[in-house]
Amino acid sequence: MKVVSKTIQVSSKGENDIIDITQELSNVVKGSNIENGTVTFFVSGSTAAITTIEYEPGLIADFPEMLSRIVPKNIEYKHDNAWHDGNGHSHVRASLLGPSLTVPVIHGNLTLGTWQQIVLLEMDTRPRNRNVILQIMGE
Ligand code: ZN
Repeated sequence: MKVVSKTIQVSSKGENDIIDITQELSNVVKGSNIENGTVTFFVSGSTAAITTIEYEPGLIADFPEMLSRIVPKNIEYKHDNAWHDGNGHSHVRASLLGPSLTVPVIHGNLTLGTWQQIVLLEMDTRPRNRNVILQIMGE
């Protein structure tokens, strides 16, 4: 079994930026020469998340609206009281969604559905540069 680790950099525009990184990740997986196995995608940082979504304008609007219903911005966060950085909701949203995703790789391809894109979700209140780590395991 081989293990290949790579990092890509993604720049976000700030809160609720949802960035389709499917093609870039797929290219890195193909370049690893691992035909069959699994790949884990992981974003470093406690105010960003990775998930899958159908990347179309309706859902790109619906998803942040869902987040504001479940984790509202304008309530008290102990984090903000302690650190005064105004992003308590960002941390809670990122923890809820999670920083990583595992996808099976078969014949060198990610086993995604046609309408299933991999996205980086920026939860922080300002633009950030994010490192997304890929660890591909297989043969
Ligand atoms: Zn913070």
